[in-house]
Amino acid sequence: MKRAVVLVSGGLDSAVVLAHAIAEGWEAYALTCDYGQRHRVELERAREVATALGAAEHRIVAVDLAAFGGSALTDDLEVPKDREEGSIGGGIPVTYVPARNTVFLSLALAWAETLEARDLFLGVNALDYSGYPDCRPEFLEAFERLANRATRLGVESGRTAFRIHAPLIDRTKAQIVRRARELGVDLSRTLSCYDPRPDGTPCGRCDACLLRARGFAEAGVPDPAAGRARPAPETGSAGSGSPREETGTP
Ligand code: ZN
Repeated sequence: MKRAVVLVSGGLDSAVVLAHAIAEGWEAYALTCDYGQRHRVELERAREVATALGAAEHRIVAVDLAAFGGSALTDDLEVPKDREEGSIGGGIPVTYVPARNTVFLSLALAWAETLEARDLFLGVNALDYSGYPDCRPEFLEAFERLANRATRLGVESGRTAFRIHAPLIDRTKAQIVRRARELGVDLSRTLSCYDPRPDGTPCGRCDACLLRARGFAEAGVPDPAAGRARPAPETGSAGSGSPREETGTP
């Protein structure tokens, strides 16, 4: 079985890419980066998604981009809310994390080389997106060239060893939602929000929430993750006392 490393963030797009890679016959090794993001719930969701979709293995690798900050996702900066539809993707917003996908793909490449996997998958999208430069086709082409010159497998094979796969790069969010349903991905497990509430529910107002909501609306289906809270601890002692029942009082 051919092996591939798939970057999984816990969001909608990377879940669809993982399901897509498995459906195409890849033995998928899921990689999540604990990069010092403010919202740790993403890591739980990534683990759920990788397990539910049947990744051969899932690893969470820590690399602390919060040491440098400079992004609303890693630093004490405000996440933009309620932006107009036309302005999303028009510039590079403060939620951009400096060099994030370069770092993630480098880690994926390192794992791939040890697995003798030559294929890296990621869920970047350059259509319904926030405008990040490391989500664009020219970045992916450049990284693929780098990967083939930077590694033992790349230089010894004498041809293109590594391939970067971004199957959603030119898809609309609505097309991604439809693809998720075709593949049977349980989207209630995914979290796209840049600024979730403490209970893990999405804010509904950041760029990622707005793009996701538009995608579901255009696809004509409800978002099963809307309102999903952080899973309760398994001890089952979360509720203080028994739930009060409605007893037919007038
Ligand atoms: Zn949000």
